[in-house]
Amino acid sequence: MDEPFGVGRLLRHFLFILLKRSHRPMIKTMKHPITSGFILTSILFLSLSASADPITLRRGASVAPLKTSAQAENSAPDISSSLAEKASVATEAGERKKQLNQAQPGHKQDVIGKGDTLAIVLARAGAPANHAADAFAAVTKIFNPKDLRPGQQVSVQLTPAEDGEGVILQSFALKASVERDVAVMRQPNGTYKVEDKLKPLTTEVSRASGTIDSSLFVSGTSAGIPVDVMMELIKIFSYDVDFQRDIQPGDGFEVVFEQKLTPDRKLARNGRLLYAAMNLSGTNLKLFRFEGDDGFVDFYTPKGESVRKALLKTPIDGAKLTSGFGMRQHPILGFSLMHKGVDFGAPTGTPIQAAGDGTIKVYGGNGAYGNYAQVQHNGQYATAYAHMSRFAPGLRVGSRVRQGQIIGYVGTTGRSTGPHLHYEVLAGGSQINPLSVKLPSGRKLEGKDLRDFMVAVKSLEQKRDGLPQPIQVASAR
Ligand SMILES: [Zn+2]
Repeated sequence: MDEPFGVGRLLRHFLFILLKRSHRPMIKTMKHPITSGFILTSILFLSLSASADPITLRRGASVAPLKTSAQAENSAPDISSSLAEKASVATEAGERKKQLNQAQPGHKQDVIGKGDTLAIVLARAGAPANHAADAFAAVTKIFNPKDLRPGQQVSVQLTPAEDGEGVILQSFALKASVERDVAVMRQPNGTYKVEDKLKPLTTEVSRASGTIDSSLFVSGTSAGIPVDVMMELIKIFSYDVDFQRDIQPGDGFEVVFEQKLTPDRKLARNGRLLYAAMNLSGTNLKLFRFEGDDGFVDFYTPKGESVRKALLKTPIDGAKLTSGFGMRQHPILGFSLMHKGVDFGAPTGTPIQAAGDGTIKVYGGNGAYGNYAQVQHNGQYATAYAHMSRFAPGLRVGSRVRQGQIIGYVGTTGRSTGPHLHYEVLAGGSQINPLSVKLPSGRKLEGKDLRDFMVAVKSLEQKRDGLPQPIQVASAR
């Protein structure tokens, strides 16, 4: 794998696999990073706007706007308002009165629909607007209305008002997730109190495996592997596997991962991926999750070698190489000069990733290099990043960084003709060609870490076959 793993790249890959299956003519466009990025953004955007917007009230919905009781009293119609507005206010007041009169006491079950807000749901159940507003204020202390999703269940309890006129909102409960209920109760003094009911979760380790017929992703999800687990599998194998070329029909895969279950054994969420294996044209690749003594978590081969390479060749996602290493006519100085790094063209603000684990040695303005960072990876290798528009917050000389961590953003500071990353790899203090350097392998577990790892591997190998199938997401909550 020559290119580094990046979330953007991974998502594009993921999308590519999906599209490859159903829309063959789109393959060409998907290969272009900018186009695919755009399509991805559009899809994300569309899916966002399709979800329930909890704040906007639906236009035309017969719902009294939420007001606190104090506001409701003060909201006399503006004298200067037009006749049309007056008419609408009058209608609204009429509607509200009608609603109050019509609301029947009792227990009402409802399900959040597309475009619903808590206000809409409470009004639909017949809760008086001022009660709904107070209850809403209470619920938002612990629940973000943006987390409202179609399909969530709501129950509303209305009781007769003491004066016999209309009803009181006694309580309402929202099933926020499989593991969480949010309940609001009316107190004797007329205020509303919110309660967060979290169910205790247990962790269960499960196993799924399958054979690839068309794409890894489709075969994986039909074998019951959740999307987030599939994404992680692709991510950890992306250092060694070219997913567009190396995968053949008949190849196999297997994952062992955790699931968090409620007491009634419903899936709350998926936990950590513990093990993943791929059988590619007869070659078996196995990766085990392991947390070292220093707290770093990574995936390792059965011999205890990290899947990550020590250095990424391209410390920036989706950028194109604009100038290679070697002698060239300098664009600003005009004469031939040794170009001691490689340039990647990318828009200002594009995140730059640390090419490997290491410690920041230089971090600041550095003459013609502009804003410059240098990371020392081990006794021999260091990498440098120049012309950055800005540095990453929280980092300074001496900070430890992990491979892939953002250390700054593309810019054009120093002697530069336009936004790009000038990237150098230094071996023993002098620049070498990052594209031809034989990359050293990543970290290897040693000593106690290696012994602990071997014990963990053995234990997982022993129980693997007996592990249960994953629990699937319940279709109705
Ligand atoms: Zn350069």
